[in-house]
Amino acid sequence: MLTKQKPMVLKGQLPLKNLYTAGLAGNDFLHALKKGEILSSACHACGTTYVPARYFCERCFENISQNYKSVSPQGELVSWTGCYVGLNGKRSSTPAVVGAIRLYGASTVFVHFLKVPKANLRTGLKVQAVFKPESKRVGSILDISYFAPAK
Ligand SMILES: [Zn+2]
Repeated sequence: MLTKQKPMVLKGQLPLKNLYTAGLAGNDFLHALKKGEILSSACHACGTTYVPARYFCERCFENISQNYKSVSPQGELVSWTGCYVGLNGKRSSTPAVVGAIRLYGASTVFVHFLKVPKANLRTGLKVQAVFKPESKRVGSILDISYFAPAK
């Protein structure tokens, strides 16, 4: 029989250290970024093309690890927002603008920084990835510096 009790609270600190990996498909995706490519994986069963690439279709669970294909570095802005907390966890008085971009050839959206004048932000805006110079790429999501209006 369940009884209602006041929850027990233990105060203290846990000295946790974590190491996150990108996973197999994420690893392949990041290696492709280092080469200046944006890797997708397509599910032939349901027709969904994922960016970043995945090993399994999250909609129908097909193995799509052999269906990699580079997609265009250009796409359309689907949505955007301003972030007042940076990747370092610190607050900022000016927001970083982050967009959800549907790259041409992809079904899903890809989230990344935008460098678009605020007055020009609109759904459907054509944007393109701006990669760091090849010598500066390390296999990170930040090998793409940001997305800017397509030329
Ligand atoms: Zn599928």
